[in-house]
Amino acid sequence: MTKKMMALLLALLLAFGAVMAEASDAALPTDEAVEESAETATGETEEVADKTETEETEDEAAGTGEESEEPVEQKRLSGVKIGIDPGHQAHGNSQKETVAPNSSQKKAKVSSGTQGVRTRIAEYVTVLEISMKLRDALEALGAEVYLTRETHDVDLSNQDRAKMMNELGVDLVLRIHCDGAESSKSHGIGLFVSKSNDIAAESLRAAEAILPRLIAATGAKDRGITQNDNYTGQNWSTVPCLMVECGFMSNPEEDEKLNDPDYQWQLAKGMAEGICDYIENGRE
Ligand SMILES: [Zn+2]
Repeated sequence: MTKKMMALLLALLLAFGAVMAEASDAALPTDEAVEESAETATGETEEVADKTETEETEDEAAGTGEESEEPVEQKRLSGVKIGIDPGHQAHGNSQKETVAPNSSQKKAKVSSGTQGVRTRIAEYVTVLEISMKLRDALEALGAEVYLTRETHDVDLSNQDRAKMMNELGVDLVLRIHCDGAESSKSHGIGLFVSKSNDIAAESLRAAEAILPRLIAATGAKDRGITQNDNYTGQNWSTVPCLMVECGFMSNPEEDEKLNDPDYQWQLAKGMAEGICDYIENGRE
């Protein structure tokens, strides 16, 4: 081999080496890119894992939330069914029905009720407003609440209303009414329960729990608890039942109060507290 050939070969080798080096340089970024993308993928995987962990943490937090909502299960009226019968309706029904299961005595299916002497508002309007607030107060305490009516345009006799609540098997029924008297001076709250049927004693126990709370909440005059067998709605009831006469619409001042939303809330809260006392005393 001549010196010239050696130089040429060397030059060729160097040139080849340079090409190979370039080729491997070109390949290198690809490898790096692969590694980077692998890292990115790993990073994403980790992020996904993080998210999963976060979700799990959130789930746990939600679980904790459920646990902290467990007092919902322990609300004072949880598992308690309360019936509310807002008295009367837009139009009375003068057809007759028997006043009690074992009686031949008949009374109008549903009377038209009284009317505010000052506000001119009909009793059936006032008592539905009070009843809706009572429903809200009871539901806030965890009770399951059933109303015989939520509108004025119904035709429900007092027997129908009692039977509706009997079938629902509620723990207690409150019949919400307002009173009327010849004297404009009569005022205050009175409760009425049946005297002779199977629910008389338990209804009286409910009334005794509710009345003091109602008086404390409203400051109204205490007219006491009356036991008699005059009311179809109570006589036909097979579940504890009482009628709340919330006040006298024949008394101008009390008429105004009975139609004042704040006073209606006081009535609702007083009744709700009394119902809590009644239920809790029964549980002991
Ligand atoms: Zn009434």
